Amino acid sequence: MFADVIVDIQHEKLDKIFQYRIPESMEGRVEPGMGVIVPFGKGNRKIRGYVTGISEKCDYDLSKVKDIIEIPERAVEIEAKLVSLAAWMKSNYGGTMIQALKTVLPIKHKENAKVKKKLRLLLDEETGKRQLHYYQEKNQKARARLMEALLDDPVLEYDLVTKKLNITMPVIRALEEQGVLRVETEQIFRNPVRQTVRQEKKIVYTPEQQHVISRFREDYMRGIRQTYLIHGVTGSGKTEVYMEMIRTVVDQGRQAIVLIPEIALTYQTVMRFYRRFGDRVSVMNSRLSAGERYDQMMRAKSGQIDVMIGPRSALFTPFPNLGLIVIDEEHDTAYKSEQTPRYHARETAVQRAKTEDASVVLGSATPSMEAMYRARQGEYVLLEMRNRSRMQQMAEVYIADMREELKNGNRSILSGRLRELMEDRLEKGEQIMLFLNRRGYSGFISCRECGHVIKCPHCDVSLSVHRDGKMRCHYCGYEQPKVTVCPECGSHYIGEFRAGTQQIEDLVRKIFPQAGVLRMDMDTTRQKDAHEKILSAFANEEADVLVGTQMIVKGHDFPNVTLVGVLAADMSLYTGDYRSGERTFQLLTQAEGRAGRGDRPGEAVIQTYDPSHYAIRTAAEQDYEAFYEEEIRYRELMGYPPVENLLAVLVSGADEALLEKGCHYLREYILRVIRGITSRENAAGVQNSREAGCPAVQVIGPASPGIDKIKDIYRKVIYIKAEQYGLLAGIKDKIEQYIEINSGFDRMRVQFDFNPM
Ligand code: ADP
Ligand code: ZN
Ligand code: ZN
Repeated sequence: MFADVIVDIQHEKLDKIFQYRIPESMEGRVEPGMGVIVPFGKGNRKIRGYVTGISEKCDYDLSKVKDIIEIPERAVEIEAKLVSLAAWMKSNYGGTMIQALKTVLPIKHKENAKVKKKLRLLLDEETGKRQLHYYQEKNQKARARLMEALLDDPVLEYDLVTKKLNITMPVIRALEEQGVLRVETEQIFRNPVRQTVRQEKKIVYTPEQQHVISRFREDYMRGIRQTYLIHGVTGSGKTEVYMEMIRTVVDQGRQAIVLIPEIALTYQTVMRFYRRFGDRVSVMNSRLSAGERYDQMMRAKSGQIDVMIGPRSALFTPFPNLGLIVIDEEHDTAYKSEQTPRYHARETAVQRAKTEDASVVLGSATPSMEAMYRARQGEYVLLEMRNRSRMQQMAEVYIADMREELKNGNRSILSGRLRELMEDRLEKGEQIMLFLNRRGYSGFISCRECGHVIKCPHCDVSLSVHRDGKMRCHYCGYEQPKVTVCPECGSHYIGEFRAGTQQIEDLVRKIFPQAGVLRMDMDTTRQKDAHEKILSAFANEEADVLVGTQMIVKGHDFPNVTLVGVLAADMSLYTGDYRSGERTFQLLTQAEGRAGRGDRPGEAVIQTYDPSHYAIRTAAEQDYEAFYEEEIRYRELMGYPPVENLLAVLVSGADEALLEKGCHYLREYILRVIRGITSRENAAGVQNSREAGCPAVQVIGPASPGIDKIKDIYRKVIYIKAEQYGLLAGIKDKIEQYIEINSGFDRMRVQFDFNPM
């Protein structure tokens, strides 16, 4: 047996993996993620490496392959845990081990020259002088030179230190580890705590908050580690609860990771954590350079911080003693990676927590179907918070039936009700948000008279209009010509649903010339900081109306907003995929949550052509349970996740004919693999859990992934549906082997996406 070993895990060029022989004495004991000692280089220097994989065959000249020397006793360091997490990700999500390692390990990149780093002396003058003396005595010249410079000037440019003083990285790192200095960058370490006095607002927890906190604490202190799902309405005080849980864990000498979708990672949120945990908190965001991110990771590793807040990638913070992972807004689609390995942060967090004896806390006002399904199955502990923490009322929600509006002669984008309420608010000087949920919009055809939507007869998702004028199903490839007459009611008012934020802005300006209007969408936020500028202008009440896409409904508190209008709730309902109902419910609930955050009660108007659709009805009634029941029934019926699992095999290539052929062969191969599995199961007497006649594994497609061509690369997708995740992972392994040995696939790219979002 042979082991793949990486020896330099912090190097940008991680691609170098070496093979070593596993000596007989160690057979069966070597596993991915394990630390090993191996001989390296010409002199066979003994170094530490990590096993990334095991194989039976050796890819190199056998006579040159060296043996692993030993497995060190203490093989549980943080790197080993992350390497084994990478191995888990590779096998669960596909891709190569290198890709997985690059995702989880903090990798040192060549420093971006634009980033200004500084060194700051942390000692007072007297202690500093003593330290200088010590270095001089020990004849540590570089350290002494740096110390001298720092005593002259306690803040030094990093570049000056490395280039002019000729001090190397390890020296700086050593002094940093001794607590002598700190490497700062303008962004990360600008510590807001200093500017504002650190005052903790004393709050009295509501009974609901107290219950959740106690439950967690009691479990934690008794050594029980679990995954908790907090289902708490917006404003129920979830963030306060997270902070109290983190306190529990930090008091035990352990660390916590808090994942927040980047768009909701606002200054206010970050400040709340700073006020609570001071400079033991670090924040990661996508604006940090690779080098800065690496520094943050190293600070976490060396124990300088207790809490890391950040988006998805912060999940891999190398804390030595991780105790808790919090995932706020757990349902957010940003938690799914769009690059191989296409991991989901929720599942990966649960896996990481399992290997590091940590707990996971998921929180949302609208839990994902996945999380609630698992909670109902008893995998997660469900904790409910049904009331807003400061006694505010939930918004009053009205549905405006746009079919009725049309019947009554109103062809405008604004319903009568919304228009009336807008007038009222403008008069009172209160603010209004108008929201158009274009997310994932893919050109469905609907009837404005009766609300009928053209769907795929096989997959129960809406058909999408393509440029060639045909309507297609994005799952199975079914197609039909575009209709011009409604098959339900015969109306000619049928067509593609069109409305943009720009149009709405123009309309509002025309109807309400006295109103100040701001718009926030892709077009107006292209420039850096445009986002913040618009939001802060609106917060400062420089405008009465904010028109925008889903960007405006996430995580922003505008106390003067008392009216929210959702202009076309249907838009997100027919995006041609099985999650559209769930996404619509989430967006509508979030939008409703924006109304009435201050002292005045709020109202929301949802405009729709299909008021009886369960996602719209239950969102208007603010009834999550009712939504969940309906939605899970649909998923069960159609065999969609989370009830069953779905693997999307994405195939792409520049040669369209080759792609067609490749997909054909791939499909045939997949069917062969499935037949193999099924006949083996039959032979073993395994009962097929689904109805007789229904195959346990289904192959659908090849179909269009929505966009057929990007930058001259053609794309296709094949779906495989199965009850068991493990079965799909096994099929994925087989496909990876198949494409490896069939040279035609050299000119195509095959990627895997489990339970795609
Ligand atoms: P969520 O994360 O559930 O939306 P937050 O934790 O952000 O809720 O709480 C909403 C607001 O209510 C915040 O300003 C928070 O400080 C405040 N808050 C939370 N819990 C309490 C409490 N028990 N007493 C008073 N104010 C609270
Ligand atoms: Zn109709
Ligand atoms: Zn279909």
